[in-house]
Amino acid sequence: MDSKEQQTILIAGGGTAGWMAAAALSRFAGGHRIVLVESEAIGTVGVGEATIPQIHLFNAALGIDEAEFLRETKGSFKLGIEFDGWLREGTSYMHAFGAIGRSAGLLPFQHYWLRAKQAGFAKPLQRYSLNELAARTQRMQRGRMQRGRTAAGAEMAYAYHFDAGLYAAYLRRIAEARGVTRHEGMIASVERDRATGDIASVTLDDGRVLAADFFIDCTGFRGLLIEGALGTGFDDWSNYLPCDRAMAVPCEGGGDFTPYTRSIARKAGWQWRIPLQHRIGNGMVYSSAHLSDDEAAETLLANLDGKPQADPRPIRFTTGKRRKHWNRNCLALGLAAGFMEPLESTSIHLIQSAISRFLALLPAGKPSQAAIDHFNAQADFEWSRIRDFLILHYTANERRGQPFWDAVRDMALPDTLTAKIELWRETGFIHREREELFTEVAWFQVLAGQGVEATGYNPMADALPEDQLRALLEETEAAMVEQVRAMPRHIDFLRQFVSGQ
Ligand code: FAD
Repeated sequence: MDSKEQQTILIAGGGTAGWMAAAALSRFAGGHRIVLVESEAIGTVGVGEATIPQIHLFNAALGIDEAEFLRETKGSFKLGIEFDGWLREGTSYMHAFGAIGRSAGLLPFQHYWLRAKQAGFAKPLQRYSLNELAARTQRMQRGRMQRGRTAAGAEMAYAYHFDAGLYAAYLRRIAEARGVTRHEGMIASVERDRATGDIASVTLDDGRVLAADFFIDCTGFRGLLIEGALGTGFDDWSNYLPCDRAMAVPCEGGGDFTPYTRSIARKAGWQWRIPLQHRIGNGMVYSSAHLSDDEAAETLLANLDGKPQADPRPIRFTTGKRRKHWNRNCLALGLAAGFMEPLESTSIHLIQSAISRFLALLPAGKPSQAAIDHFNAQADFEWSRIRDFLILHYTANERRGQPFWDAVRDMALPDTLTAKIELWRETGFIHREREELFTEVAWFQVLAGQGVEATGYNPMADALPEDQLRALLEETEAAMVEQVRAMPRHIDFLRQFVSGQ
């Protein structure tokens, strides 16, 4: 790029990734001309519906009003994810957002809980999680409760369920209002500069040529630029995460308006359930080696809250990521960058995170190789640690005698995950590297929920006299139960919030 003239950034694709990029760049990449091209004939994937709390940062950076956003996207609040049957049939635990328990000193809560558990007086983890207690009773609050004139109790961490198609449409309006130019049309070819090898332009099927200095590939699984034109290569992770199909179907709501995502283990994968204002999003993620599409559709349709609103739609994928997310003058975002199943609702977050890391390195002229390498190293780290977290849910299962679950229990694990599990088992310590997405509390809940026992805990936890530890646990639980009791029901709170009353 020539730094003296106005630079053009062309975004190829207008799904969630394309419009998130367009909205953010039009807000923060002042001085750049932003152009987006998309094809209505191709359409979008449009199933992404569950998010994690970091989405607040993205929306806030764009100056989005929360009530308007929930109205526009038909969204609901999300306090965590429930995992049913993942350890074995009949079990249930939650990865709830936010803190768990209270610490009594230098150590994280898990060590006190492990000590109490070994002594036989710890209650299940959920009794010390404000989010889980609220979620299970379908209650919700935002900010702190008011008691008279004072704010009381802990603040809840929350994310949203929303219709990703509506979110993209909402962001499109924001981006276009800020000057993004949209071209409707099908990209028929991508041209590279003969001298440098960089991408020079895209040509639409009606002959229009769109040249730019920098390209953002948001063309979905196709990866038209990053793979089709640049042949970047793909790291296939299906040896760790063998599910390769999804089947999605929306249905009518059945009245159970849970402020959490449900993930229900099935014969060869799992089913999601995501309540929105106008429908419930459902889907199956499964391994085609263990389950046919027909069986998956049958299981899905047999387990809906209400009438299906469409035929089940199959989606094929390979878990993994592009070898480089940023290659030459092209950045891949969203499904063009790679895909990991939505078990922990991470795809939209990965788009947001890549946009913010890209903005931090925004090239004023020709992108520097140091910036590209740095970006790609961060992406490798971020994606591989999320991959490890997803694998944990599968590998630590006791669904014995079911071929899919037996296979994932016995599979070889990445060294990074093995090291984490061993450290936990022996010491109760959870090692989280800086910039790793999921916190110690998230790992704690999944390790405990999947029955991975820690035999040790930090002996400093023994410094607390037993009666004080008992009191700490009892008081923590009692305070949370009381706080939850005073909360409105999720559905009432949501209705009131979106109507602005
Ligand atoms: P797409 O939606 O596929 O958009 C691609 C765009 O490129 C479209 O606009 C299309 O028109 C355009 N395009 C393609 N080729 C051309 C061409 N030749 N010419 C012009 N335009 C072209 N994420 C979450 O965070 N939470 C979830 O719960 C979640 N669930 C998911 C469930 C499933 C089964 C799947 C597959 C994904 C899920 N995701 C989830 C991921 C989420 O849906 C995607 O990350 C997100 O929607 C981004 O998609 P995208 O914009 O990259 O691609």
